[in-house]
Amino acid sequence: ERTAVEEFDVVVVGGGPAGSTAATAVALRGHRVLLLEQQTFPRYQIGESLLPSTVHGVCRILGVEEEVARAGFKTKRGGTFRWGRNPEPWQFSFALSPRLADPTSFAYQVERSRFDKILLDNARRVGVDVREGCRVKGVLADEERVRGVNWTGPSGEIREARARYVVDASGNGSRIHGEVGGSRTYSDFFRNIAVFGYFAGGARLPVPNDGNIFCAAFDEGWLWYIPLRDDLTSVGAVVSRESAAAIQRDPVTAWRRLIDSCPEVRDLLPGVPQATEAPYDQVRVRKDWSYWKTRLWRPGMVLVGDAACFVDPVLSSGVHLATYGALLAARSVNSGLAGAPDESRLFDEFEARYRHEYGLFHEFLVSFYDMHQDERSYFWKARKVTHVDTSELEAFVELVGGLASGDASLGGPGQSVQSGQSGQAGARLAAASSELDEAVARLPDSAGLRNPLFEAATIRQVFQEGAVLQERGVFGGPLEDETPQRPGGLVASEDGLTWVDPGR
Ligand code: FAD
Repeated sequence: ERTAVEEFDVVVVGGGPAGSTAATAVALRGHRVLLLEQQTFPRYQIGESLLPSTVHGVCRILGVEEEVARAGFKTKRGGTFRWGRNPEPWQFSFALSPRLADPTSFAYQVERSRFDKILLDNARRVGVDVREGCRVKGVLADEERVRGVNWTGPSGEIREARARYVVDASGNGSRIHGEVGGSRTYSDFFRNIAVFGYFAGGARLPVPNDGNIFCAAFDEGWLWYIPLRDDLTSVGAVVSRESAAAIQRDPVTAWRRLIDSCPEVRDLLPGVPQATEAPYDQVRVRKDWSYWKTRLWRPGMVLVGDAACFVDPVLSSGVHLATYGALLAARSVNSGLAGAPDESRLFDEFEARYRHEYGLFHEFLVSFYDMHQDERSYFWKARKVTHVDTSELEAFVELVGGLASGDASLGGPGQSVQSGQSGQAGARLAAASSELDEAVARLPDSAGLRNPLFEAATIRQVFQEGAVLQERGVFGGPLEDETPQRPGGLVASEDGLTWVDPGR
C-alpha cells in the first residue's frame, strides 16, 4: 500500500499550549498549517497556574484573550509563599509592577484540559488543520534540512506530511526532539519528583489573595496549593529524587503523608475529601527534572515548550515559557515563509531570546531555592511586601509575571499615560535601578551580610530590561526606535507575529 503524502507550509507536533500558539501564530499570517496531536482533547495535563504574560500577551496576539476570560477560570492576582526560615507567609501581587498594572495585573488558575482545548479550538478556527488521535513517529530529513514527519492516524495507517518547517511542541515526552541538538542536558540542581492530586474543596486565602497560588516549603520539599474552583483544589508535593521509589510504590499514601507533614497546607483542608470526578480522582507522579538543549533549531525544524526545555515549576513559568517560545518560533517561521533571506539570522533570534528568558528563570530559581535564606533575601522587609513599592520588588514581579523578556508585545495595553513620558519613565527606572545597586552595597542584613540575591547579575539585568520595558510599556506597544536585544538582532513586528530588521 502506498503511503499518503500531503504538503503544508508548517507541521506542528503536539496540541498543548506551545503547539496551539505556534500553529495559530503561523496560520494568522495565512500559511497552511497541519497540527498533529496524539490524544483527543480535552486531555489532562499538569501546569495549572498561569502568568499574566500568557493571558494578556500571547492570548491577545492569538485572538483568544476574551474567550479565555469568559471561561470562568479562577483569577490569580499573585503568589503567597511560606518559604525560607521565616514562619510567616509573604506574598507578591502582579499589580506591584507598573508594567502589569490594572487591568492586566492578574492571570488565571486553569483546568488545563479546558484551557488547552480553548487554545486548540482557536487554532482550528483560524484555519489550522488540527487532527487529533494522530501520533508522529519520526521526521523526514536529508543532509540539508528537515522536510516533514511521518505519523499514524487513528486507524493505524502510516502517513507522511511534508513541510518547509516542523515545529516540535510534543512536550516532555517528545520522541523527535533529539533530531535537534542531540540529547537533553539535565540540571544538577533541579532534580525533583512531584506527586499531585485534587481535593473537592478547601479553604481559600483571604480576599484579594483567594486566587493566589500558595507554595509552602517544609522539611522534605515544598507543596503547591492551587484553587481551581470553589469545589476543586490542586495540591502537589515536590520532593527530592531520593523519595522517588517510595512515591512510585504508593503515590496516594505518599501524597497524603507529605500534605500531613506541612501544617500550613494541611490546615487548609480540614475534613475535605479527595476529588472523585475524573480526571481529578487520580494521584499522579511526574519527574520534574529541569533540562535544556544545546540547540533549539536546525534548518527546517524548531523545538518549543517542554520539548525544548523545562525549569522547576515553583514560579509557574512552564506555560509562559512554552507559549512565549512558541511565539518566538512562529515569528521566525513566518519571516522565513515570507522569504526573508537569512534563515540562520531568523532562528538565531528565536533561540537567543528563548534561551535568555529561560536563563532568567533558571538563575533566579537557584537563588530562590536557597533555603538557608529567609525571605528577606528575596524581598527586603518582606512582611511589608505588599505595602512597599520598591523597584526591586517590581523587578521580581515582572520576572514572575513573565515580562522580564522585555518583549513589548507581551505586555497589556498601556494605561493612563500621556505620550511623551516614555523617555522619562525609562530614565526613572534606570535611576531607580542604579540607586538600588548603591542601596544593596550599603545595606547589610542582620547577619552583616549583603543580600546575595540582589547582587546577582540576573537581577541587575532584570532591572536594566525593566527600564526598556517600562519605556515601551507606556505606549502600550513597541516604539519606533525599539532596540534589538543584542547587536544585529531583530525586533518584533507590531502585530507580534514576525521579525523586523531595525537596521532597514
Ligand atoms: P504539553 O502541554 O505537554 O503538550 C504536548 C502535547 O503533545 C500533548 O498534548 C501530547 O499529547 C502531544 N504529543 C506528545 N507526543 C506526541 C506525538 N508523538 N505526536 C503527536 N502529539 C504528541 N507550568 C505552569 O505554567 N504553571 C504551573 O503551575 C506548572 N506546574 C507544574 C507542575 C509540575 C509537577 C510539572 C511537571 C510541570 C508544571 N508546569 C507548570 C509546566 C507545564 O506542565 C508545562 O511547561 C506545559 O504543559 C508545557 O506545554 P507544552 O505545550 O510544551 O507541552
